[in-house]
Amino acid sequence: MHPPLIVGNWKMYKTASEGREFIRDFLKLYTAKSSVDVAIAPPFTAIHSLHEALQSSPITLAAQNVFCEHEGAFTGEVSPPMLKDLGCTSVILGHSERRQHFGEDNDLINRKVHSALSHQLRPILCVGELLREREAGQTNAVIEKQLLEGLKDISAEHMGQMTIAYEPVWAIGTGKAATVDQATEVHTLIGAVLENTWGTKRETIRIVYGGSVNPDNADSLFQSPQINGALVGKACLNPDSFVKIIGSAHRSLN
Ligand code: PEP
Repeated sequence: MHPPLIVGNWKMYKTASEGREFIRDFLKLYTAKSSVDVAIAPPFTAIHSLHEALQSSPITLAAQNVFCEHEGAFTGEVSPPMLKDLGCTSVILGHSERRQHFGEDNDLINRKVHSALSHQLRPILCVGELLREREAGQTNAVIEKQLLEGLKDISAEHMGQMTIAYEPVWAIGTGKAATVDQATEVHTLIGAVLENTWGTKRETIRIVYGGSVNPDNADSLFQSPQINGALVGKACLNPDSFVKIIGSAHRSLN
């Protein structure tokens, strides 16, 4: 099994200089633990300065999005080679805010997953249901569709590069995290879909949870062996709470 993965998604917060300041404060509190992988996903404009600030640490850089073409006349877009060149090793794809505000559908997300993989950028594919879908008993069907369409034609070999983030949309930014049982149930489903469709062994892929993870609920979430880390939004913007969540992931291994 891989070590747990904690990813901090800064969303559209922090300028490059605010990002440098954050890393200065964060590194004073953070003690590297080889048992936990940590990545930060800043806005594109802060990637370069974070790459410099993180040089001597094991923290890796993720992007929050990428376009599916290598280069071309696509004004305003950023390609996988551009992100690789800046030092990113992974990329968040299919975040619900991209689906909701920018009209990204499973087909576009699938093209982005293929493109990222072909440039050795590891995708963190987000899936998750809306509140009304959960209330209508459609959670499993929604998650399965997002996986089958988002990962269409991905080779079994490439599945080893993937991370899946289960992010129920109703839990993102609301302060209302899924319960351990709710998350465990969906993570188990995700593992089964990946195994049945791609033959992916559960222990070879990380399935992380996202949605209002904070220092108070992280310990209990990480108790579930199905929850292999977290994608953290609001709570990663504060160095102290981000370090505490990383500490929870470390403690869950003992
Ligand atoms: C996210 O942005 O992916 C997220 C989970 O946000 P928050 O932790 O604020 O709910």
